[in-house]
This record gives sequence, structure tokens and C-alpha cells, in this order.
Amino acid sequence: PLVLGIETSCDETGIGIVRGTELLANTVSSSMEEHARFGGVIPEIAARAHLEAFVPTLRQALDTAGIQLKDVDAIAVTAGPGLAGALMVGLSAAKGLALAAGKPLYGVNHLVAHVGVGLLESSSPMAALPENTGALLVSGGHTEILRVVSLTSQVQLLGSTIDDAAGEAFDKTARLLGLGYPGGPAIAASAAQGNPRAFRFPRGLTMPKFEGSAHAPGKHRHNWSFSGLKTAVARAVEQFESAGREVPVQDIAASFQEAVVDVLTSKTVRAAQEHDIHTLLLGGGVAANRRLRELLTERCAAAGIELRIPPVSLCTDNGAMVAALGAQLVAAGVKPSGMDIPADSSQPVQRISV
Ligand code: ATP
Ligand code: MG
Ligand code: FE
Repeated sequence: PLVLGIETSCDETGIGIVRGTELLANTVSSSMEEHARFGGVIPEIAARAHLEAFVPTLRQALDTAGIQLKDVDAIAVTAGPGLAGALMVGLSAAKGLALAAGKPLYGVNHLVAHVGVGLLESSSPMAALPENTGALLVSGGHTEILRVVSLTSQVQLLGSTIDDAAGEAFDKTARLLGLGYPGGPAIAASAAQGNPRAFRFPRGLTMPKFEGSAHAPGKHRHNWSFSGLKTAVARAVEQFESAGREVPVQDIAASFQEAVVDVLTSKTVRAAQEHDIHTLLLGGGVAANRRLRELLTERCAAAGIELRIPPVSLCTDNGAMVAALGAQLVAAGVKPSGMDIPADSSQPVQRISV
């Protein structure tokens, strides 16, 4: 099916067009720069930016794909989770387009779309998911390990962060180190010049009292915590500052990144092994991180897990991922959404479509 996907959950206005698992267009307009001076996304500014960028972004995507709206089989739109006002811009536009063009509408889950983007052909096509597929979702607002029974009907949560998301930890630590916004790419760039073994920062929830054992799993065996790491970085910075010494920003960035990536990958591989997962999808903005891609590849290979990593350009928010999930829903014969679907700012990952 030919599907148009609309993404407006945060600060990216994304329009994607796919035919099945083939990517035809992926146009993204970001209001990131408007938020940079505040150090984080300002919801009202994001919503206004979507309103202004929507039609130009749509036009460009249709041009790139060489199609017209009347050609599509369905329209998919992010219904949640995300910023309510931002979601409403995309949802309203999607409803208007669907109604005017007489197309079925699919309200989809942004998080499942982050994971489902791995189905697009770009690297290696995978029309149907093998049995025992899992997913590591690492984004600005979420960090979750999932069992994907079916991308269109059943996703189970195996573990998640109990405080900050991985992307949030990158963003907060970047601010602390004066590296600017968004923090992920800034930390990664600084870390590339530093020594990842200069500091031994904590890997949260890895003590036996939290993890238990394989036979008696503790409550946090497959969960993460990044708030202690953030505090440890802050303390290290303070120590240098109070001693009147220059803060070794690159070494701290590299050691911080190593701590995040180490604990993300080790817990993911173990969860996969204990839940009999043989294929793993990676998704979300933090999946763009080179060190994460590298270490997860290494550890999955050692554990005999087949890993699917989307191209970097499809990791952060975009419309192609929404279109890709929409195409799966259409192909699976899932019923379209009603024209009255609301924006669900805290939509759980288990609710794939609304
Ligand atoms: P969610 O998907 O949970 O609703 P979001 O949509 O805001 O949150 P994404 O767009 O998926 O988040 O990802 C943005 C996050 O990814 C930011 O926190 C950003 O710092 C992080 N990020 C982007 N590139 C990198 C990178 N190279 N290394 C680490 N983190 C990165
Ligand atoms: Mg963003
Ligand atoms: Fe996202």
C-alpha cells in the first residue's frame, strides 16, 4: 500500500511516503533552532512551527515521491505520545486531508513507529517480522525494551527506565557540560575527542539487590536508571571547578556516553536472552549514536542475536516511520481510526493504533 505518514509529536514536522517497505519520500522540517536558546522544546513554539511548516513540508514530500494526494491508499498520523498541542496540529491536518481526499485514516503510536521504521528497505528489507522479535527503543522521552509479538497488534513491555530517558540524560548532561542543545549529537561529538575510560561513572540498577539473578529476577533486572549517572557527572564537574582546575569536558563526555551505552546494551542483550528473543530492532533518536550502534552490534553478534539498525537519518523523528507503520496496519487489514480520535500525550507503547 501507498501510505502518507504525518509526524508532529515534538519539534519535527515530518511527512513520509512509503509503498509497503519501500521509502519514497521523507521530508523533515525542524523548529529545533527556535528552542535552542531555552535549552529544551517549548510546546507552544513547537505547535506554531508545525502550523507554518506543514503545507510546505507536505508539498515537498509529494513532489519528491512524484505522487499526488489522491494516489495514496491511506493516511497515517502520530496520535501520541508527545506534546498535546503539537500532536493536535498533525491530527487536525491529517483528518482534513483524509476527509477531503476520501482516504482511510490511521492514528498510530509514535514509539512503535520508531521501532517499525526498521522494516523500511534502506539497509536490509524485512517484510514480516520473525517470531521472537524484540526491540530496544531509546529516544528523548522513552527507554524501553520490548517484545514485538506483532508490530500491528501486540507489543509487550519487558523493561524501561525508572527515571530519565537515555536521550534526556544526554540532553541534561550536555547542558551541564555547556555543550548546547540538542545534547545527544553534542555529547557524541565531544566524546569522540575524549577517553571513555577516564572516569568510571555508575551503571544504574546493576547491583544484585536490584537485578536479582536469572532464577530469581529482581524487580529492576531489565530496568534502567540514569539519574545517578547524571548526579555523578555533576559531582565530577564540581570537583574540578572547586579545585580551580579546567573541567576535562571531552573525557567526561566520553565516559558518560560509555556508561549509558554499556548499561543499555548489556541489559538489552540479557533481556533478549532470558526472553528467547533472536531478532532485535533498534529505534529512537539515541539509536543515531555511533558508539551505541557499535557496541550493540558487537554484543548482539556475541550472543547470536540478529540486529536490525535503521539508517541514522530515520532514527530521530520523521514521517517515514509513521508511514511505515501505517503501511503495516493497512497490509494487516487493521480497521482505520475514526475521525474523532484525540491526541493522547501519554499513549502507552502497547496501544499501537487508535
Ligand atoms: P520520544 O520519541 O520518546 O517521544 P523524542 O521524539 O523527542 O522523544 P527522538 O526524536 O526520538 O525523541 O530523539 C531525540 C533524542 O535523541 C534527543 O534526546 C537527542 O539528544 C537524542 N540523540 C539524537 N542524536 C543522538 C546521538 N548521536 N547520540 C545520542 N543521542 C542522540
Ligand atoms: Mg526532535
Ligand atoms: Fe521520537
